[in-house]
Amino acid sequence: MRIVFMGPPGVGKGTQSQKLVDYLQVPHVASGDMLRKAKQGGNTLGPNASGHAALDKEVARQMDLGRLVPDTIVVEMMGRRLSQPDCTAGFLLDGFPRTLPQAESLDQCLADHGTSLDVVLALDVNPDELFRRLMARAETQDRADDTEETIRRRMQVYRDQTEPLLDYYRGGGILRTIDGMGSPEEVFSRIQAVCRAEGREE
Ligand code: AMP
Repeated sequence: MRIVFMGPPGVGKGTQSQKLVDYLQVPHVASGDMLRKAKQGGNTLGPNASGHAALDKEVARQMDLGRLVPDTIVVEMMGRRLSQPDCTAGFLLDGFPRTLPQAESLDQCLADHGTSLDVVLALDVNPDELFRRLMARAETQDRADDTEETIRRRMQVYRDQTEPLLDYYRGGGILRTIDGMGSPEEVFSRIQAVCRAEGREE
């Protein structure tokens, strides 16, 4: 099953993704994790980045500020990942796509492989609850991009650049919105129900 998992920062996507990949037995392809790993390892990113440490520093700076990394870099990185053999039978995309050009590139990349997305799961939680969750996470994890200012910026970036994707996927008839309020177990059983309704959870 080829799934995109969407939702604003703090919605609980990380927790739910982990449960869902265990349940569906598909790889968890998380752009944020991949970018953080590249950043920590000092790896270069994207086709134009090799050898240009200054560009990588700039990418890292954008991440720390809660801004998006340029589409070209992310699209290339994800295209390479999705072409690997473990993604042939399906995957759970987490944090990608985040912009309309990324979504269009993803569709094109899948079409080139003769496939398409099965479903887009969108977790929905009210904004006050989101902010509370993000501040709580900032206290327990050491993420350079989890300060109050960057949290607000990331929520704004989501509203401006990522939320329009909901309409894009709604138009494609593959969007399923899931209530993200309640315990992780309650939310996960809603997600399972949607996967079952899609009839392709195996
Ligand atoms: P995440 O762990 O998904 O919240 O991602 C952490 C940071 O990585 C984001 O705030 C962005 O700076 C960057 N990032 C992750 N995924 C993308 C993407 N699809 N497009 C652009 N930037 C991204």
